Amino acid sequence: MDTYRNFIGGKWIESSSPRTVNNINPANTDDVLGTIRQATREEALAAVEAASEAFHGWRKTPAPSRGRIVAKAARLMEEAKEELAQILTREEGKTISESRGELQRSINVAEFCAGESRRMNGETILSELPSNFAYTIKQPLGVVACVTPWNFPVAIPVWKIAPALVAGNTVVFKPATLTPATAVRIVEIFEQAGIPPGVLNLILGSGSDAGEEIINHPAVKAVSFTGSNSVGIRLYEQVSRRGAKCQCEMGGKNPVVILEDADMDLTVESTAQGAFGSSGQRCTATSRAIVVNEVADEFVKRIVQRAESMRIGDGSDAKTEMGPSVDESQFKTVLDYLNIGREDGARLVCGGERATGDGLDKGYFVRPTVFDHVTPDMRIAREEIFGPVLSVLRVKDFDEAMAVANDTEYGLSSAIFTNDAARIFRFVDEIETGMTHINSPTTGGEAHIPFGGIKGTGIGDREQGSTALDFYTELKVVYVDYTGRKREGNLY
Ligand code: NAP
Ligand code: MG
Repeated sequence: MDTYRNFIGGKWIESSSPRTVNNINPANTDDVLGTIRQATREEALAAVEAASEAFHGWRKTPAPSRGRIVAKAARLMEEAKEELAQILTREEGKTISESRGELQRSINVAEFCAGESRRMNGETILSELPSNFAYTIKQPLGVVACVTPWNFPVAIPVWKIAPALVAGNTVVFKPATLTPATAVRIVEIFEQAGIPPGVLNLILGSGSDAGEEIINHPAVKAVSFTGSNSVGIRLYEQVSRRGAKCQCEMGGKNPVVILEDADMDLTVESTAQGAFGSSGQRCTATSRAIVVNEVADEFVKRIVQRAESMRIGDGSDAKTEMGPSVDESQFKTVLDYLNIGREDGARLVCGGERATGDGLDKGYFVRPTVFDHVTPDMRIAREEIFGPVLSVLRVKDFDEAMAVANDTEYGLSSAIFTNDAARIFRFVDEIETGMTHINSPTTGGEAHIPFGGIKGTGIGDREQGSTALDFYTELKVVYVDYTGRKREGNLY
């Protein structure tokens, strides 16, 4: 059994903390992968100090050389892909094919960011004055903190760390307490790729303790956070109050709008994938199906058939379609929402309980659940559940569907199923989400395409794609006057 260590200033250091947490396989709680000692505040401080010391040298390293290290990490991740996918499934519970998909996304992101190292260009701007011009350069910020959740414990760290490093920052990485094993492997890969000591540091510690120490440290110039709204909003207040940059990607309550002409095979399969994939533990998970009355009965009948056919089990079995909730607390939260849905008067049409038998008793398994006749005021229509639970809201027409879809504090992802071009483009124009999908699931994204939400979901620059480096750099404007003469007249 592993005891995970922190990585500070290029050394793997065992924490002196007496507080330990076991890393448990949520498909079988007898299976303990390892133990973390929750880093002390002093250890968190040491990581920030190591990152501060390393900054000058890393900043002066040419961007393409920084990119080459990230490219090497991408190749090493590719070599370790299967091993990492197995760890991910055992640690977090998602199915092995979902884990492989997450690994591929991470490799793609690292490759893309490595390429960006040769494109960190500014612009040249003409002047109002003769023999003058201006140009801009993108410069790194300093030490940045990457604080990440457990649900994509490889991809999200990589999509923060890779652009941060390419841009010339040094990093303190604070992963979720629930997923230390994948975090350690990611950092080992960057180490093996040749990252200099102190440029990337890892602190395995509790968010409210070591995490707070990191995000409040004056040397930390920016914090990139992905996680829940309750933690994210507080973190944003703290970080922005001291004038540092902060980017928060938070929860979702993502709708699919299903119109009368929708291709029902495609709609049902895409909605099932979106709602039950990763056991509903995706920020982009489909949690509301907003269906026009004409096709609501048919949709409900077919989504129930699909949900009931879903093979639940240990994700390491290639035949499994849906794994467990990540831990006991998440599992209980989901079970609570199943009661809340019933009490609020929604009609439970399938699932609604813990899954047992067939080797499931030692895991945190919940049956894929569909509630019908959900109304927009019910809690299961408003709150992020983060479990395999779909709420069906019936509406009379497209206008009502739009109103219901936008009646939420969140704004991450959405989808529409129809072949009516006019309504597709009205939906695209009016839907209040940062990403939207036409005739495809609310989930998913590509490495070179910006990712993120609006409204209560996202604060700050978008991650990934052409916008990935915006957060990790600041712009310097340079005025050049090559007349060689003193200026005349008024200058403003
Ligand atoms: P979480 O509880 O908010 O934790 C996220 C991270 O913040 C963890 O590393 C956590 O550490 C740390 N943290 C907690 N309190 C902190 C504090 N006071 N100061 C500094 N760091 C602190 O979220 P989660 O339960 O891991 O993840 C699920 C949530 O993430 C869901 O709401 C989901 O929608 C959201 N999510 C959003 C996106 C997106 O792109 N929009 C993507 C994926 C997930 P500990 O683990 O030690 O508590
Ligand atoms: Mg948590």
